[in-house]
Amino acid sequence: MVRIVLLGPPGAGKGTQAKQLAKRLGIPHLSTGDLLREAVRAKTPLGLEADDYMRAGRLVPDDLVLRILRERLARPDVGPGFILDGYPRNVAQANELARISPVDRVISFDIPEGVLVERLTMRRSCPACGTVYNLSTRPPQTAGVCDNDQTALLQRSDDTAEAVRTRLGVYRAETAPLLEHFRRLGLLAPIDATGTPEQVAERLRWALESRS
Ligand code: ADP
Repeated sequence: MVRIVLLGPPGAGKGTQAKQLAKRLGIPHLSTGDLLREAVRAKTPLGLEADDYMRAGRLVPDDLVLRILRERLARPDVGPGFILDGYPRNVAQANELARISPVDRVISFDIPEGVLVERLTMRRSCPACGTVYNLSTRPPQTAGVCDNDQTALLQRSDDTAEAVRTRLGVYRAETAPLLEHFRRLGLLAPIDATGTPEQVAERLRWALESRS
């Protein structure tokens, strides 16, 4: 049983790494961002309430996110553990998490802010299979469509320059203090998140193995 939290600014590559790691370890990838986007797409009352916050790049109120996370954690597939991506994002959420489920490791993704804006505004993804592209570093073979299923690629509504600025500000003010919080608890393992996804995956593997 292993419960891992991935912590880092938007665009650090947590989602990309979490997907691969989840496959490798056979445990689910729980992304509060994905869960919220699903709720927005399904137009549930919670999704409708979350939508405006997300578009603006602000945090969705804690009680809404907690509700969606609790529901997800109640599903049987989390028995062998989970990779949590996008939660906690502030101290109140970290305290909630400690109440619902203890965690074993917190991996933080170290990356200079300059790289993030470019990664986020260039990001496009396939709504059908979830593959993430980057117009400058990992473009699709044919412009605008997914290599796997030819579905038209979409830009996330919060990957606009303005929302990206807001998200980075929120990260600095509310989420970054969690690094110190988890360091004090002896749970934090920072990794260098620059370079290719393969390089980061290798560092992530090391960070997880070196403490088990
Ligand atoms: P990123 O980490 O790249 O910003 P996510 O997909 O994790 O992207 O999150 C997108 C948006 O979803 C956030 O900007 C926020 O509005 C909302 N969100 C996700 N997780 C949380 C959370 N734990 N608390 C509050 N809002 C959240």
